[in-house]
Amino acid sequence: MSENKDFLRVIVDEDLKKGKYEEVVTRFPPEPNGFPHIGHAKSICINFGIAKDFKGHCNLRMDDTDPTKEDTKYVEALKDAVKWLGFDWGENVYYTSDYFPKLYDYAIKLIKMGKAYVDSLNEEEIREYRGTVTQAGKRSEYANRSIEENLDLFERMKRGEFKDGEHVLRAKIDMSAANMKMRDPLLYRIRHAHHYRAGNEWHVYPMYDFAHCLSDYIEGVTHSICTLEFENNRDIYDWVLDTLELKPPRPYQHEFARLGINYTVMSKRKLLELVQNNYVNDWDDPRMPTIAGYKRRGYTPESIINFCDQIGIAKANSMVDVSQLEFCIRDDLNKKVPRVMCVLDPLKVTIENYEGEEEIDAPYYPHDVPKEGSRVVPFSKVVYIERDDFNENPPKGFYRLTPEQPVRLRHGYIISCKEVIKDDKGNITEIIAQYYPESKSGSDTSGIKVKSAIQWVSETYAKKVELRLYDRLYKNEAPQEVEDLNPNSLKIIKDALIEPAVIEEKKDERFQFERQGYFYADPIDYTDEKPVFNKIVSLKDSWAK
Ligand code: ATP
Ligand code: MG
Ligand code: MG
Repeated sequence: MSENKDFLRVIVDEDLKKGKYEEVVTRFPPEPNGFPHIGHAKSICINFGIAKDFKGHCNLRMDDTDPTKEDTKYVEALKDAVKWLGFDWGENVYYTSDYFPKLYDYAIKLIKMGKAYVDSLNEEEIREYRGTVTQAGKRSEYANRSIEENLDLFERMKRGEFKDGEHVLRAKIDMSAANMKMRDPLLYRIRHAHHYRAGNEWHVYPMYDFAHCLSDYIEGVTHSICTLEFENNRDIYDWVLDTLELKPPRPYQHEFARLGINYTVMSKRKLLELVQNNYVNDWDDPRMPTIAGYKRRGYTPESIINFCDQIGIAKANSMVDVSQLEFCIRDDLNKKVPRVMCVLDPLKVTIENYEGEEEIDAPYYPHDVPKEGSRVVPFSKVVYIERDDFNENPPKGFYRLTPEQPVRLRHGYIISCKEVIKDDKGNITEIIAQYYPESKSGSDTSGIKVKSAIQWVSETYAKKVELRLYDRLYKNEAPQEVEDLNPNSLKIIKDALIEPAVIEEKKDERFQFERQGYFYADPIDYTDEKPVFNKIVSLKDSWAK
């Protein structure tokens, strides 16, 4: 744990020192109604991170109280995400739906205490009766029902005798409370729907405010950490647990600021829309801010954890710059991955004075990366270079190949241009070049000065690869609608050429394609016959604002 504890760790530390709890128990409580996104990663890092630091435990709990939106595939995605980030939830995954019987019993207890009642106002009336910030609400006339009548009605709600919306169960708290949430909050509603786990057994479903605090209590959670928008729900959290006079110790809620990232949408509802309307390929589309998306794109779990660490835990909402996340992945890959050569837009170069072939031994890593390893790069008479590494009419400061200026083929020889061949439309189709036998990299005695080294591949040995280049999914800093989507967020290059060792040797799944960026062998579509690489991130922060 770092020296400077964040405010949550300070609270946990004090609680443990005071002996309030024997061990810390946190939970990560997602609703399985979508794939988890980078905001969830933040919550995972906080909850599992605190448990780890204080040698406690963090439960993974599916907060599955809304039968209309939840699904097993989302449960699996949530488990995958937590596992991929390197955290361990222990033996069991917990489900709020498993507590339905217990929660129902707690509701009965509240009714018997005269602290909850069945209300039969409709949704609109409930809203009207609640009042406003400046005006006290008024209590429903149904609040005067006897305990017996409430018990009878609630039991019949459970059995499915009423239609959706006909009745609700409410806590009897205070219709003039300054905190509007405390104006007799809803505890249960009727829902005739199939629940992905509980089946058709239930016709009443607990509301968040009732289910969450009690699920925490049932599991022995000590610190219930949630995002700021639940600040006003804390009073209900406390009210439910205190009113039920539960055996101590009980959990307490603590809020932190939700993670927001510019150019990024972070709401499962909006992400679902993108998937359903085919704006992206699926939840794991590498452009999605989902954990599955980052994973497929080639992000490492370490980079995401570092990002969550770096941004810290705040008490006030703010927006994080997406380039900070990009920095974290770049920084991580820079220390780890092999450097290889790939040509995205090939231009043929025939080296007139070279005959035969040779094998060049080239290191995978630069000097400042303390890793060992090299591969063979075949060199031959015909090579391909990047089309824009040659310029017939170079602007000032162009350091690569021109009719007058030689350039080094990375790890290989220096070449110069002798002739430019064009088709009838004037497009350059080939360069006739010359190489300098004494200029080989590592044993250069040619005395020729060049200003740069460029990537290249041998025509005979290069492999064709598909590259998927991603740009930001949204073009606006604070995207809202699908109109804000970046129409150029995906560019596919079908016939890039890569040096053979990448395909044959498989040194890694992630590579730096020199001067192009970091790339990842697509875990689903890649085959040796048709290699596919995803661009993870560029080498530099090159986004033009
Ligand atoms: P969304 O609205 O994006 O679907 P949510 O809050 O409804 O998010 P849940 O599945 O209920 O999603 O969230 C599980 C946990 O993750 C909650 O404790 C929630 O506070 C936390 N969480 C969700 N989004 C963020 C975020 N952007 N930053 C930090 N924590 C988040
Ligand atoms: Mg939620
Ligand atoms: Mg939500």
